[in-house]
Amino acid sequence: MTKFIFLITTLFLSLSALFAEEGMYPLSELHTIDLQKAGFKISAADIFNQEAPSLSDAIVKLGGCTGSFISPQGLILTNHHCAFRAVQTASNAEHDYLKNGFMAAGREQEIEAKGYTVRITQSFKDVSAEVLKDLDAISDFAERNKTIKRRRKEITARAEKENPGMRAEVAEMFKGQTYVLFLYTYLKDVRLVYVPPISIGNFGGETDNWEWPRHTGDFSILRAYSAPDGSPAEYAADNVPYQPKKYLNVTPRGVDENDFVFLLGYPGRTYRHRTSYFTAYEEHVHMPFVADWYQWQIHLLEDLGKEDRATALRFSATIKSLANTEKNYRGKLRGLGRLQMVRKKRGQEAQIQAFLQKDEALQRRYGAVLNAIKNIYDEKTNSAERDYILSYLTRSVSALSFANTVYKAAEEREKEDLERESAFMNRNFERTKKRLFIRLQNFDLQADELILTELLRKAAQLPKGQRIKSMDRLFSLNNPERDWQKAIKQAYDDAKITQKDFLSKAFQQSFEQIQKTNDPFLQWIQALQPDIKALKEKNERQSGELSKLSAQWAEVKRLYEKNTFIPDANSTFRLTYGHIRGYAPADAVYNFPITTVAGILEKHTGQAPFNAPDKLRQLIKAKAFGFLQSATLHTMPVGILYDCDTTGGNSGSPVLNAKGELVGLNFDRAFGATINDFAWDESYSRSIGVDIRYILWLLQKYAGAGYLLDEMGIDHN
Ligand code: ASP
Repeated sequence: MTKFIFLITTLFLSLSALFAEEGMYPLSELHTIDLQKAGFKISAADIFNQEAPSLSDAIVKLGGCTGSFISPQGLILTNHHCAFRAVQTASNAEHDYLKNGFMAAGREQEIEAKGYTVRITQSFKDVSAEVLKDLDAISDFAERNKTIKRRRKEITARAEKENPGMRAEVAEMFKGQTYVLFLYTYLKDVRLVYVPPISIGNFGGETDNWEWPRHTGDFSILRAYSAPDGSPAEYAADNVPYQPKKYLNVTPRGVDENDFVFLLGYPGRTYRHRTSYFTAYEEHVHMPFVADWYQWQIHLLEDLGKEDRATALRFSATIKSLANTEKNYRGKLRGLGRLQMVRKKRGQEAQIQAFLQKDEALQRRYGAVLNAIKNIYDEKTNSAERDYILSYLTRSVSALSFANTVYKAAEEREKEDLERESAFMNRNFERTKKRLFIRLQNFDLQADELILTELLRKAAQLPKGQRIKSMDRLFSLNNPERDWQKAIKQAYDDAKITQKDFLSKAFQQSFEQIQKTNDPFLQWIQALQPDIKALKEKNERQSGELSKLSAQWAEVKRLYEKNTFIPDANSTFRLTYGHIRGYAPADAVYNFPITTVAGILEKHTGQAPFNAPDKLRQLIKAKAFGFLQSATLHTMPVGILYDCDTTGGNSGSPVLNAKGELVGLNFDRAFGATINDFAWDESYSRSIGVDIRYILWLLQKYAGAGYLLDEMGIDHN
C-alpha cells in the first residue's frame, strides 16, 4: 500500500512538474501557453482584455514593486518592504510607525505615501520598426545609442499627447531588436492605510531575508486616490478613493501543497539571454564590487545609528535597500560558482561557433560577434574600479548627488525637451525634484563625510593609467602630504547645497548662474565634469555597440536552437505559473512549502529581528484562528513556497489560484533561487509569499481592522 501511494505521488509530482516551467510571460506571449493544460481555470481574456475589465486591471506597478487592488475603493495590497520608504518618511521618533505600525481609523487619517505612484497597464504595441529604422546607416555606436533613445522618447511623447493623463513607455524587450510601447493609467496620490509593526512586517530581518523557511508578515495596505472626477491627480485633500476597473477576489480558503498558482506583476531584471562574458563580468567584477561597497556602508550606517533612534530611523530605509541587494548578490555569486555558469555558457557558445563555422555565409555574417562582445567586457573590466568609484561619488555621497542633479538640471533644461536626459524632461522633472527632497530629509552630515572620505581613499589607491584626473587634482590625491580631511570638513561647513531653500532656488536658475554659484559641492561637480562626461560617452558607445551585437547574437541563438525565447524581465507586465512546492536545498534536506505560526514562537528570542509582539504570541498560543485556520494543517499558515519564475519587482505580486483569486502575497525568493536571474531551474527556483490567511488573521485579530475585511468583501463574523 505505502509503495502504491509512493508510486502515485511520484507519478503525480513528475507529471505536474512538467507544468512548472521557466517563463515570465509578457502579454504578447500569453497565447503561447496552453492555459487549461497548465492548470488555469480561466481564459487569456480573463487575464488581459482591452475590451472589458480583466485581472491585469487589478495589478499595479508601485515604484519598483507590484501591488494589487483588493477593493472597489482602491485598496492596494503590497509588501511591508515596498511601503517601507513611505512609512519611514512619515515617521519620526515621536510617531514611530516603522516600529509600532500604523492603522488609519478612517479615510481622513490615511497618510500620504510620499513619492509613490501607481501604474496600471492599459495597452501594448510593437514599435520595433520605428525605433530601429535605418539604424545600420549609423556607424558611430554612441550616436546609434542616442538615436535609439531619442526615438523611444519621441514615440513616448507622441503617445502621451494622444492619450492625455496617461503615462507611456517604450520598453526594450530584446536588446537592439524588439521595442514595445506600453500605455499606463498613472495615479499620483497614494496613501498608507495599514502597516504592521516592523517586528511582524520584517520579522527575521536580514537574517531571514532571502531564506526559507520564513515567518515574515511582509505586507502593507495602501490606497490609491484620484481627483473627484476619477482622473489621476497629485495628492490633494479633496481627492477621492480611486475606483479600479477590476479588483481581486481575496479568498480566505488559501492554498495547500501542490496547488496550482500563478502570479501577475512587474518583475525587474533578469539576464538569461546574456553571454558568458557578461556573466563573468558580473561574477568577478560588478557584483563583488557592489556587494563590498554596500556592506561597508551598511556597517557605517548601523554604527552611526546605534545611539539615537531618530538617526537610526533616518538610515533605516537606506540600510534595508543596501542590505537587500548585498545579500542578493552574495546569493547570486554563490550560485554562479556552484553551477559553474560561466563555464557552461562558454561550452554552449563554443558549440554555436562550431555551428557557424559549418556555413560560410553564417560565419561571415556572425562569426565575429561573440569576440566583439568579449572585447567590450574586457574594456569594461579594465576600467571597472575607477568607473565605479566615479559613478558612486555622485550616487552614494548625498551632497555630491544633490549638486550633480542641480548642475545637470540647469544644463539639460536649456535643451529641447526631447534632447534632455530622461530625469530632466518635463514629464519627469517634478518627480526628480521630489525624490531629491525626500533624500534630503534623511541627509546626515557625518555619514556623508565618511562616505566621501572612503571613496577618496579608494580613488587615491587606483593604479597609474586608471587615475581619475579631476579627482586627483581636486583633492590632491597624488600628494602624500595631502589633508583632504580638512578640505572635506570645510566644504560641509560651507555647504548650501544641503539646504532646502537653496535647492529650491537653485532649480530655477540658469546654467550660467549655477556655474557661478559659490557652493563647494557645485564647484566640485563642475571640476569633475570632464571625467563624468567622458565616462558617460564611453557608456553610450559601449551600449550602442552591445545593442547591435546582442541583437545579432540573439539571431544566431535562434538559428541554432530553432526556438523562440521569452524576453528577459524589464519591469513590464508578466505572468508566471507553477505550484506550491517544497524543495531540497542541500543533500538530505527537504523543505516543506508551508510554514505556520508555530515557527514564530520557535524563532522568537525577544531580540530584534526575532521579537514577535506579545499580543501576537498570545493570540498564537490561544489558537484563536477561527474560520481562517487551515483545514489541512489545522493551524495558521504563515509562509508559502512555490516554483514560479519571479525576480525583484515581483515583490508585492498577488499569488493567485487557478480561478484567479488571491491566496498569497509574493515577497522574496530562497537564497539558492537568487541565481534564477541568470538561469531558472525547477530544482532550485523557489519564490516565497505570505499566506493570505495570515494577513487576514493579523488584520482581524491582531490589528482589530475588521473594517478592512469588510471592504474586501470577506465575511468574518
Ligand atoms: N525580496 C525581493 C526583492 O526585494 C523579491 C525578489 O527578488 O524575489 O527584490
